[in-house]
Amino acid sequence: MTKVLSVASECAPLVKTGGLADVAGALPAAMAAQGVDMRTLLPGYPSVMARLGDGAPVVTFEDLFGGAAQLIEASVDGLDLLVLDAPHLFNRPGGPYITDEGRDHADNDARFAALCFAAAHIAVKGTGSDRGAWRPDLVHGHDWQAGLTPEYLHAMGSTVPFVLTIHNIAFHGNTSGDRLGALGLDRHRFHADHFEFWGQISALKGGLTGAAKINTVSQTYAEELMTPHFGMGMDGVLHARKSDLSGIVNGIDTDVWNPATDPQVTQYTTPKGKAKAKAALRAEFGLPEANGPLCVLVSRLTEQKGIDLLLEALPALVGRGGQLALLGSGDTALEVALLERAAQDENVAVKIGYDEALSHRMMAGGDAILVPSRFEPCGLTQLYGLRYGAVPVVALTGGLADTVINANPAALARGVATGVQFHPITSEALSNALTRTCDLFKDTSTWAKLQRNGMKQPVGWETSAKAYAALYAAALKG
Ligand code: ADP
Repeated sequence: MTKVLSVASECAPLVKTGGLADVAGALPAAMAAQGVDMRTLLPGYPSVMARLGDGAPVVTFEDLFGGAAQLIEASVDGLDLLVLDAPHLFNRPGGPYITDEGRDHADNDARFAALCFAAAHIAVKGTGSDRGAWRPDLVHGHDWQAGLTPEYLHAMGSTVPFVLTIHNIAFHGNTSGDRLGALGLDRHRFHADHFEFWGQISALKGGLTGAAKINTVSQTYAEELMTPHFGMGMDGVLHARKSDLSGIVNGIDTDVWNPATDPQVTQYTTPKGKAKAKAALRAEFGLPEANGPLCVLVSRLTEQKGIDLLLEALPALVGRGGQLALLGSGDTALEVALLERAAQDENVAVKIGYDEALSHRMMAGGDAILVPSRFEPCGLTQLYGLRYGAVPVVALTGGLADTVINANPAALARGVATGVQFHPITSEALSNALTRTCDLFKDTSTWAKLQRNGMKQPVGWETSAKAYAALYAAALKG
């Protein structure tokens, strides 16, 4: 059985800010089905520490970047965890990356360098415990927060391979070159072949250059990442690693996201059951009856997610009897603009906040799920939408390109379409897509076919878990 240490800065259901948490939370069970024994290394944020129950310390560090720390082994919600309990780094208010005031924690470089150091330590020394020693054959890191792992592995003389998954290239984990000593990094490797990036230490680049294999969360995003527009400065580095770069689309937890058993919704397995859920959702959002499609959107509210494009394109939807129910939180300017818009238009309803249960009810009650992202490594809400008969209306980019089959005339004629895609990613193209969506919605048999096709798509983890198993095998081969 291949043993893999997954290194993640968030992991559902313990701590989540985005899709990375869902993947880190789902991967262990998905990989177990492929014969992989996966444990997950997580920072000991307060929300994680609170769940450890009878977890036991298995490794101690006298001084890990400025304080004592230990690794606690625990089983929580079916996840085998190794939690880095380092109070000086993680026991504080705020989110995983930012303070309550919305600023980055000033010592994020040390916080996640510590996570990487702990990962390398486990890979080299293993964990001795009552359950027996465990040492991974391979380390699988997620995003920049795990990026310095290969540097510490190298420093410890280890040849344990490292696989890096890019969930979002926008964040590099850069810090000043002056921090080399503080982070215990090798000065001789502070150059462009390793973790130096324009004079700074870049945790992401350390991962990209040190990984045996790199993947991102869709094939299209893997290609996009090698272009200046999407690569965010790392396109050259990725191009150089082209032969080791691949795309593996995320799955979703089809037990949690199952319209036949979901406790949050009127249960259904065919699109017919949606009517009840839709009425309930309209009532919950204070929306009136309408003839057009009830579109839903669940998202972080940031520039990436194209919310501004949607605000401009809304007339195309509400002008044809359509409606919007939106749940999200993020940039204040977007929150304010959305609330103002909702106040002006009875067919637009907005809830600001983070509400997992409501997001289920929205997939169940929505006719369409909107994802107008400017870039989207994979995207999860369109997958939830497919499973719940909420037809995805998405930008043609990244994972949105790979998981939705556009209702163009050819796909409609062949009966394979599952959604609506638009390109270029502008408010005009989105307006056209919303117009098309309203037209398709009126054609009830075509719409029902779109829903049925979507509900049959294999959106679980099985195919992707096989691809990860193959990736691990390739990395282990060297
Ligand atoms: P990203 O990781 O860029 O935020 P993804 O689509 O990959 O985007 O994943 C976002 C995840 O977070 C999904 O599971 C989505 O349902 C969830 N989510 C985002 N915002 C909210 C919210 N306001 N309430 C509930 N769930 C949310």
